[in-house]
Amino acid sequence: MNEEWEDSPREECGVLGLYRPDPGNDPAWLVYLGLFALQHRGQEAAGICVSDGEQVLVEKDLGLVSEVFDEARLARLRLPGTEVAIGHVRYSTTGSNLRFNAQPLTVRSNKGILGLAHNGNFVNAKEMRRDMLDEGVVFQTTNDTEVMINRIARYSQLNLQEATAQTMHDLQGGFSVVLMDRHTLLGLRDGNGVRPLCVGTFAGGGFALASEPVGLAAIGARYLRDVRPGELIWFDRAGLHSRQVLEARSTPCAFEWIYFARGDSHLEGIDVHAARVRLGEQLAREAPAEAEIVVPVPDSGMGAAIGYSRQSGLPFDYGLLKNPYAGRSFIAPSQEARELKVRLKLSPTSAVRGKRVVLVDDSIVRGTTSRQIVALLREAGAAEVHFRVSSPPIRYPCYYGIDTAARKELVASTHTEEEIRRLIGADSLAFLSERGLQRAIGPAGLCLACFSGSYPAGTPEEQDSDKLVLEA
Ligand code: SF4
Repeated sequence: MNEEWEDSPREECGVLGLYRPDPGNDPAWLVYLGLFALQHRGQEAAGICVSDGEQVLVEKDLGLVSEVFDEARLARLRLPGTEVAIGHVRYSTTGSNLRFNAQPLTVRSNKGILGLAHNGNFVNAKEMRRDMLDEGVVFQTTNDTEVMINRIARYSQLNLQEATAQTMHDLQGGFSVVLMDRHTLLGLRDGNGVRPLCVGTFAGGGFALASEPVGLAAIGARYLRDVRPGELIWFDRAGLHSRQVLEARSTPCAFEWIYFARGDSHLEGIDVHAARVRLGEQLAREAPAEAEIVVPVPDSGMGAAIGYSRQSGLPFDYGLLKNPYAGRSFIAPSQEARELKVRLKLSPTSAVRGKRVVLVDDSIVRGTTSRQIVALLREAGAAEVHFRVSSPPIRYPCYYGIDTAARKELVASTHTEEEIRRLIGADSLAFLSERGLQRAIGPAGLCLACFSGSYPAGTPEEQDSDKLVLEA
């Protein structure tokens, strides 16, 4: 699997929030830096919302952080005395990739002006939206963020914190959220803690929230702790407040460690790169191969290939180089063009010539990219290609914010492992076991639903629903 390709689970979204960063800092600029560090979590849109206690300003658009924000646009967010700011990078897991679906979403409500950015999916958003439409509520977007913000506003007798806590009870699914009014920053996670969110502090006493610790490090905040599953946390002039709103049944997304989170992050106390290496070590124990070198699919298979190499004693080598300039900007309207895209992006080196190669990647979704990569290695003279995957076969879709493709498109849901091996043209193929995955990552509870079909945080009414579900 590889980022930016059609044949891959797509990252979900990244969120960031600031409360009173140290004096002398430009909060909009800090959020911009933090979003850069979280860019791997979403490349379709980016946005920043700031408030100085009076005005609330938002700038957002389709594109990478570097495409959305130039000096002039950041200058428009430069409000002297800004106390609260949030930011978002988006991949459209619900709602199409249109400008009006970009986040943060801002609304005027009975709680004042609110800004909200979220990562994940509310599986009951469709029913909640239908009920609200029946009651005459008007929606401006087709993403499920607006359902949450409308729900908060419905609790008109409650203050923002109480209304948000009540809304957490109403929502099902896997999500983490940052929310602001003109004076307060709030953050929350669903009761299963499927999507990550962590808290950091600034030296001068301010606070920050980010999907991953790398977002905190980029803005000079020190990691304090993860937000707990089911916890609502908020920051105001009195400091940090916390309330355990939902019972915590911790089942974080296994894919955060397999692929999504950045290698230099740590989630739930578990170092991401080290977990990837352990996945590769476990894979080598479970599925050894008669081969001469271990080659990663860059960059997604890198950590696991290191682990496979260490455990097996086979040398690691760069059998495939990645062209960092090909990818997103390459327009690939046809299947033929998409195949060309893989060739533009990856090129085999002489390291594979005449060698029996173990090729390591983190997952197989549709299988089309894997087939092309095996073909590339064979054309470059590889004697044998043994494909090893550092996760179990993906047989079920994700309803918690990852776009894994519809079930019928998942090659492992319609083919046996032997059929997949033949389809991708490998000499042998092996996936990591669920038990091995659990052991390598660490915590007792993990969401493994895309492998097992057992969904810890509920499923949508219509299980074949896709990311355009709210546009029906
Ligand atoms: S279904 Fe898979 S991708 Fe989705 S949250 Fe669970 S482990 Fe992660």
